[in-house]
Amino acid sequence: MTSRRSFVATSLLGVAAAAQPFKSTGKEITLAPKKTVKHWVWTNPDEKDTEAELATRYKQYYEAGVRGMFFEADSEKHFRAAKAQKLEAHRWMWTMNRGEKSLLNAHPEWYAINRKGESCADKPPYVDYYRWLCPSKPEVLQYLKDQVNTILQKDYVDGIHLDYIRFCDVILPVNLWDKYKIEQTKELPEYDYCYCDVCRSKFKAWRGTDIKDIQFPEASLSWRLFRYNAINNVVNSLAVVAGSHKKAITAAVFPTPEVARRNVRQDWTNWNLTGICPMIYHGFYKEKVDWIGDAVTEGVHFLAGRFPLYAGLFLPDFANNQELHKGIELALQHGAAGVSLFGTPKQDVLDTLKAATASSLKMI
Ligand SMILES: [Zn+2]
Repeated sequence: MTSRRSFVATSLLGVAAAAQPFKSTGKEITLAPKKTVKHWVWTNPDEKDTEAELATRYKQYYEAGVRGMFFEADSEKHFRAAKAQKLEAHRWMWTMNRGEKSLLNAHPEWYAINRKGESCADKPPYVDYYRWLCPSKPEVLQYLKDQVNTILQKDYVDGIHLDYIRFCDVILPVNLWDKYKIEQTKELPEYDYCYCDVCRSKFKAWRGTDIKDIQFPEASLSWRLFRYNAINNVVNSLAVVAGSHKKAITAAVFPTPEVARRNVRQDWTNWNLTGICPMIYHGFYKEKVDWIGDAVTEGVHFLAGRFPLYAGLFLPDFANNQELHKGIELALQHGAAGVSLFGTPKQDVLDTLKAATASSLKMI
């Protein structure tokens, strides 16, 4: 394991320092693109945490290479405590999946409608908290813009982190098929959204066809593209709001561009973000740790350098810290700019993060 001193020096200098050209057959080769590593943690702030506990925790995070936090709720105490330890503090926001009672009661007509004509407002798919808004309605977009604007006005918030920024899963990750007793080998109408009047009329204005007149809407490429664009429009509109505050905008998304488009109509490589955290949760897809490298490779390829990718890792999916070490190394070696950890990292996990980062920087 690398000493702390050399780790800090390496992390400050970044990969660029380790990627000096070398001479082989008289030809100069750059080993890796210029980049620095930055890790993140997703967390739900617990109001019971004391300032002293938070100071200790976030100092440990920083020493392990964590540079930013995604907080699922607004807690000024947590945000400021993180910032005091040199971490960025971002607000993690559920975006299209909005079950707040006030909104459900005030605007049931804003909710998405499936291919059977059922609304998420009163008949949510899979689970009660799945209350998806329709991305095509101007009122929904305005509501979300107002929310992001309000969040980013706060001086202790460094950025907005979009979660559930997609349609409902028309196909669930395979690990959940048993749990919900569904075999989703095809797109079923009760999980396929949104067929509301606004979506129908906008699609008709765009392509001249009513989606209800298409025999197999699940096979219509234009209908798919329409829905990618509907979410793209929401994200890129929210990116303008973030830009007006000169603050960061990132998102938690499905693990690869292909899975994201296929399962949840999420076209994230076309978003105007400052960074992205694909949830490369290998256990959800019954994959092994090796797949993390494959998923990162695909994401980085299709992003084509637009913004950095941070590999989201689900700590409960790893059998032990050796596996986690391998997962972090695979992510960094395949082009991730860092990882984002879901789960509460204890000291052994932080030590693993630090060691895997140091070893990856030497290998890249
Ligand atoms: Zn709609």
